[in-house]
Amino acid sequence: MTDDLSRLSSSAYSQALEVIASVEPRIAEATRAELADQRASLKLIASENYASPAVLMTMGTWFSDKYAEGTVGHRFYAGCQNVDTVESIAAEHARELFGAEYAYVQPHSGIDANLVAFWSILAHRVEGPWLEKAQAKNVNELTDADWEELRRELGNQRLLGMSLDAGGHLTHGFRPNISGKMFHQQQYGTDPETGLLDYDKVAAKAREFKPLVLVAGYSAYPRRVDFAKMREIADEVGATLMVDMAHFAGLVAGNVFTGDEDPVPHAHIVTSTTHKSLRGPRGGLVLATEEYAPSVDRGCPMVLGGPLSHVMAAKAVAFAEARQDSFRGYAQQVADNAKSLAEGFLTRGGDLVTGGTDNHLVLVDVSKYGLTGRQAESALLEAGVVTNRNSVPADPNGAWYTSGIRLGTPALTTRGFGHDEFDTVADLIVEVLSNTQPGTTKAGGRSKASFVLADGVADKVKARSAEILDKHPLYPGLELV
Ligand SMILES: *Cc1c(COP(=O)(O)O)cnc(C)c1O
Repeated sequence: MTDDLSRLSSSAYSQALEVIASVEPRIAEATRAELADQRASLKLIASENYASPAVLMTMGTWFSDKYAEGTVGHRFYAGCQNVDTVESIAAEHARELFGAEYAYVQPHSGIDANLVAFWSILAHRVEGPWLEKAQAKNVNELTDADWEELRRELGNQRLLGMSLDAGGHLTHGFRPNISGKMFHQQQYGTDPETGLLDYDKVAAKAREFKPLVLVAGYSAYPRRVDFAKMREIADEVGATLMVDMAHFAGLVAGNVFTGDEDPVPHAHIVTSTTHKSLRGPRGGLVLATEEYAPSVDRGCPMVLGGPLSHVMAAKAVAFAEARQDSFRGYAQQVADNAKSLAEGFLTRGGDLVTGGTDNHLVLVDVSKYGLTGRQAESALLEAGVVTNRNSVPADPNGAWYTSGIRLGTPALTTRGFGHDEFDTVADLIVEVLSNTQPGTTKAGGRSKASFVLADGVADKVKARSAEILDKHPLYPGLELV
């Protein structure tokens, strides 16, 4: 931010907090406290980032007061001319940014974007052709048995996605999730030796299972995916290829992932969040080919509640930022920093799933320190390092305790961290983990949750991280009065 913008943001936020405090001072206080906490912590949560003041401010307006179900020019409510402007600009930026034929900027979150995609695929591939066939009869003559048949058709569809413990997301067919209930699902994993995707195995599974939807994309896989290969597999079995780029959209936008690693030219439908590596407001996004556009467009009100117009406006601002040259530099730095972080662990004897990274995240297997992911996460938090525990492939500790911690570089890269800072981060984490012991259970066994961090380590690590955090302030120049 320039000095001028910092000064404007400082006074805008200070005044906004005064207005809020006049109604509920505790909320104004918590808002101040959150800024202080975010400034003081070493945030390595791979799915988080820091949006710019311009993006954040765009969310705090009267666009929040407007109902705008429907699409641009076809609303179920009157008086949507300004929402139309905002939504059109956001969609135009998204199309240009990603080179997509069509963009739908209404989803409230990444999961909502996936629900819209599932709906759209079922409507386009199953309901559409079925209704067309039935129209021959005249739709008014459809019997209860006809509708029953359609429901059966819809409910008989199959989805193949990446398993949760290999790095997939809950919405990629995890059985307890809605995606695992609305579809018959099967999952593909990674190679137990290398931790890498094995495309031949994915293809073999697809040939046998014949899914309607093949889902690619991940939340915790530290490597790039060949989407051209995924499309070949989808085409061979007649599946729709859906790519969920929620985590790595920023690397696609910033041209770090190009060619076969860019999902947009290869997938029928691409879904995303806008708040992770893309650094926008909390929200979702669907990109699609022209073929799927009409069914995606019906997302609201078929799947989604009324669009959050204030957030669509903030998406437009964030996409405009991501189209600037500086965003490419940012995205490349995110990937370079992940490599520095990974090297930092490897040179200190750390164990990484897949042995490294070529995206924005690193998955550390903490078993060699005798800890569960849960103990590692808590010990690190005590030392001011914010991470999250994560399963490793074929995790012996299950999905709750886990054996790994997931680390991402997008947030601290926004603060200006580079190679040296991330090398220090690896050092601090190894320092905490190698000075942590598992606690004992009441029965005298080895606990999976409690832990003992050696005296003095938390303070030492906090002091060293405060030093680098102070050199790279969050929202530099933004001072609340
Ligand atoms: C984070 C994530 C989501 C969910 O996003 P929300 O905005 O939290 O709903 C969906 N898919 C993947 C792959 C994700 O990483």
